[in-house]
Amino acid sequence: MSATLLSGKQLAKIIKQKVQHEARALEADGVRPALAVVVATDDGSTHWYVRSIERAAESAGISCRIVDLGPNATGQVLASVLKDLSEDPSVNGIILQTPLPPGVGTDELVGHIAPEKDIDGANPLSLGRLAVGQPSFAPATARAVIEILDHFDIPLAGRNVVVIGRSAVVGKPLSLLLLERDAAVTVCHSRSGPLERYTKTADVVVVAAGRTGLLNGGHVSSGATVIDVGTNVLPDGSLAGDVDEGSVRGVAAALTPVPGGVGSVTTSLLLLHTTEAAREQLRSLVPGAVR
Ligand code: NAP
Repeated sequence: MSATLLSGKQLAKIIKQKVQHEARALEADGVRPALAVVVATDDGSTHWYVRSIERAAESAGISCRIVDLGPNATGQVLASVLKDLSEDPSVNGIILQTPLPPGVGTDELVGHIAPEKDIDGANPLSLGRLAVGQPSFAPATARAVIEILDHFDIPLAGRNVVVIGRSAVVGKPLSLLLLERDAAVTVCHSRSGPLERYTKTADVVVVAAGRTGLLNGGHVSSGATVIDVGTNVLPDGSLAGDVDEGSVRGVAAALTPVPGGVGSVTTSLLLLHTTEAAREQLRSLVPGAVR
């Protein structure tokens, strides 16, 4: 038996259509949704990724402003730019793109992104709100995992779900989203011991560790769904996930590919969050005047 591949491409297309529809509705209400991406690196693959967000945004009817501060930007300059964008009424969503210049910490900066514009859930306030069930944007990657599971009708309530990775951008927010969906969640990390102790009995395994080949066929049971969040650039420039696809496909029931899985859905969700933020900001400006 070979696991079904859960491609994210069709779902990404559906979300993009929703974004286009919502962007047109916002235009009709007098607002062109706008996203700002702050970049401070000369890393080529980061610039390639940011340009891909820009292209996707423009084609969906969202303005995209790239604020390129260069690889020598200081923490002070970055903080001031994030504060200005947070106060700028023409900007609805803000992304602070990593990597940042050496010595500049992400943690100190993300707190300057206004939570209502924090469309990638980077501000610790967003994670805190998520933890207590208040409205906030979850990191797009964490939401992408849930959207994929829903799209393919994989049940979560009462299911045994294992998340490998506990970062603030993927593992933690994802475990909160899964709890909200009534899954029984176990979070593994580099010190939790042998993975198979947890993953062998899991209905769903999500791997977000950034370690090529971390999860193999011996770790999972037949019937399991495996979601591979990992994106690892191999020496030849190609992309691989955290799953040893060959062996896992022989055992599991379903698996997301890399590339073409979680990553494809993530960008569309960043755009969807931007339209959601724009709609909410419009509502707070003109209560009752718009949908
Ligand atoms: P991160 O901050 O480096 O966190 C990695 C997590 O994995 C940590 O919690 C770490 O445990 C755990 N881990 C590392 N080695 C492990 C092992 N051998 N066994 C069990 N757990 C282990 O990474 P991240 O930012 O969360 O990203 C994770 C992966 O997702 C990366 O490949 C990244 O490129 C990818 N990613 C993809 C998308 C997308 O849209 N597809 C978006 C964001 C990230 P400790 O906490 O104990 O160190």
